[in-house]
Amino acid sequence: MAGDRDAQYYKAWMTHRTVSRRGLFRGLFNAGHQAQVSVEQQDVLRAEGRPPQAVEEVLFVRLCDGCNDCVSACPYGLIQLKDDKAAINIEYADCDFCHKCTDVCTKGALERGIEPNTGLRPTLSFSCLGRMNNYCRQCAITCPQGAINFDEANQVVLNESRCNGCGKCKLACYHGHITLRPKR
Ligand code: SF4
Ligand code: SF4
Repeated sequence: MAGDRDAQYYKAWMTHRTVSRRGLFRGLFNAGHQAQVSVEQQDVLRAEGRPPQAVEEVLFVRLCDGCNDCVSACPYGLIQLKDDKAAINIEYADCDFCHKCTDVCTKGALERGIEPNTGLRPTLSFSCLGRMNNYCRQCAITCPQGAINFDEANQVVLNESRCNGCGKCKLACYHGHITLRPKR
């Protein structure tokens, strides 16, 4: 079973058009799961928000077969199937990176060694109170990554590489002025 999975994984890996030389050689010579996490996750663009330990997007789309296991495993109901692939949708609870989705994935689409990142990024609407004055900074205060800041003109400055798409800022905004979208 594990052999079948490895074969499937490396077939996808080898045909993946954006694989790096470093990742390729690791994949060939280390032949372990650590090879799967060598892709630089922070630069990966997602078609959808994904469970936080999803492998690189092109590879993920090949490996995720829509089995529904991660959907059932998420204690907050954050994962749904979209186009038969696992996608994360943060509306009423944030992702606490509990790893339960990763733990049940047997296809190699989610991997433990990957730095958690849903690929979602917040956008603050023009109606955001903090953008009109400095009375509200709830999202910036809540963000555990320190990814949200406001400049002197009260406009939001998001540090994209710090943000891991947890969604806590969206939940913190009492007025619903934050939308999470896949980083593009
Ligand atoms: S890490 Fe936990 S909370 Fe986040 S999507 Fe996976 S199961 Fe849900
Ligand atoms: S999604 Fe999470 S990490 Fe990103 S800005 Fe919001 S609270 Fe911070």
